[in-house]
This record gives sequence, C-alpha cells and structure tokens, in this order.
Amino acid sequence: MDESPRSPVENAFLAHIMVDKSTLTEDTDFERTLVDHRSVENIHRRTSDTKNFSESACLLRNVEEQEVCKMMNNEMMHAQAPGFIELRDVRKTYTMGETEIHALDGINFSIDQGEFVIVVGASGAGKSTILNILGGMDKATSGQMFVDGKEVSTYTPKQMTLYRRYDVGFVFQSYNLVQNLTARENVELAVQVSKNPLDVDQTIDAVGLRERKNNFPSQLSGGEQQRVAIARALAKNPKMLLCDEPTGALDYQTGKAILQLLQDTARSHNMTVIIVTHNAALTSIGDKVIRVKSGKIESISRNEHPMDIADVEW
Ligand code: ADP
Repeated sequence: MDESPRSPVENAFLAHIMVDKSTLTEDTDFERTLVDHRSVENIHRRTSDTKNFSESACLLRNVEEQEVCKMMNNEMMHAQAPGFIELRDVRKTYTMGETEIHALDGINFSIDQGEFVIVVGASGAGKSTILNILGGMDKATSGQMFVDGKEVSTYTPKQMTLYRRYDVGFVFQSYNLVQNLTARENVELAVQVSKNPLDVDQTIDAVGLRERKNNFPSQLSGGEQQRVAIARALAKNPKMLLCDEPTGALDYQTGKAILQLLQDTARSHNMTVIIVTHNAALTSIGDKVIRVKSGKIESISRNEHPMDIADVEW
C-alpha cells in the first residue's frame, strides 16, 4: 500500500466513496481505488458517475479540500445534468455494398427544454438522420442520446415504441395523413394515444383549419394537409416536436403563420421544437441554431434576440 500523504483531491475522493455507499460493491477496496485514481482527471471521471458527491463535500473540514470539492462537484453536476436533449458522439453509418456512408460522423449537441431550435444545412448534410434518431424512428450506429434525463439510446424496442408515442410529435415532410379519415379524425387519432393531449378543436383552430376539419386529405391542398400534420403532432402535447421542412409545401404567408404557431407553442407550452430546414433565412428566428455539414456539426449558436417571424424574408 502506498504510504505517501494524500492530496486534498485524494482525500475528497476517499470521503466521497465512503459516503456514497451506492457506488460500493463487496469487492471495493478503498485504498486500492484511491491509488488507481490518483490523477485529478481520473477522479473527476469516477465521481461524475455518482449522485451524492455534495453530501461527502460536507464532511470535509479543511478549506482547501472544500475548494477542491467545489471544483469537482461543479464538474460532476455538468457531467450529470445534460441538457433536456443531449447527443454525444452520435454516428450513423449506412453500408451500401462495399461503401460506407457516414451520414452522421460524431454529432454532439445539447438542447434545453422549451427551446425553439433550427437545424440547418444543405441537402445530404444529415439533418433528417438527426431528426429520425431524435424521434426514435432510427437508431444511431454508436453514441448516446439523452432525453429528459433518460438515456434513450439504450432503450429496448418496446421502450422505443412508448417513447415515440408519448414523448415525440413528428411532422413529416410528406404529411403521412390517414387518407380515409377526415382532418379532425386524423388529429383525434393522435390524441387517443397521448397521456396529456391538447384540445382537438382548439388545435385545429390554431392552425387555421376550422372550416376544413371535416374534409378528407384528398380534398385539401398541400399546405392544408401540412397544417393537419402539424395539428396532429401538436395535439399530442409531446415533450418535443420535430419538424422536417415544415414549410416546404406552404406558400410564403402560410409558411410564416405556421412558423409563428410553432414558435408560440414552444413559448406557451414550454415545448421543445426542433425544425430541420435548408432555408438559411430561418436561422434568425431560432433560439438556437445548429449548422450541420457533411454529417458533422459545423457550428452551434444562440440568438439572444430571435427575429420576429413576421420580419423574416426569404
Ligand atoms: P439531409 O436531411 O440533410 O438532406 P440526410 O440525413 O437525409 O440528409 O442524409 C445524409 C446522408 O446519408 C446522405 O448522404 C444520404 O444519401 C445518406 N442516407 C440517408 N439515408 C440513407 C439510407 N437509408 N441508406 C443509405 N444512405 C442514406
């Protein structure tokens, strides 16, 4: 056993593992663990996995030790409290014969609850792949995804089904409406599998379809069908609303109205709304802008004062 005096960091770590019994196993050897984790870096890594570090900090009398504890605790909190949505080194590789296509090549980002986020990039950049993974429609080849404190990337297929049902609202580019149901029935269908839905008729009114709710999709224009698709996703009152080019099929004014509705919903319901688009003009309206290029994050920025949707032109 190493007899050398312990540094404050080592003492902090020792106090920590002695207090937090949940980290112990029958085979835990405190002193051995300490030697194994001599470097500050390793100690940080170890302690970031546990919950009760702040308790152990209280046990340390020495001021210097408490300072060290504070530093470690901050780091631990950072490691432990990911954003509402967090992607860590997410990769998606498609194999086509001999060729590998790296649709996502190490994606990292974090999104807060209630944020209105624009994911922008050229065609083929990987935007839809990100959205499909976020929405549980596709699984990453590797990497981690956390949503609301849970590691969704480890979910079983059954857990994934519930995740898609209760946590995610998806607005597809191609609408995906049920053709033999009316607009209202399409929205009602989604509400039936939701825990805490919004009012069907109010949501239909909000997307401006009050007069068309008894029409079938084939009787509606592309823009109107898109609005049904948005109402259907919104009415589920999901934790996050994922929209793939939601204004793609809409005329300019209707497109703006829909974006306004999506932004208002993020604000009023604290709903996280993520919009994928190739339209760079939309970057000025997002709280956060994630730029994607060739399967990688090109940049992530925040707009302290997002522009009014009415003032955006494209
Ligand atoms: P974006 O939405 O930005 O246009 P995508 O996420 O659709 O980009 O695609 C990213 C890359 O992955 C592209 O090169 C695309 O061709 C490729 N890709 C997407 N889906 C598949 C698939 N199912 N099989 C093979 N390659 C795919």
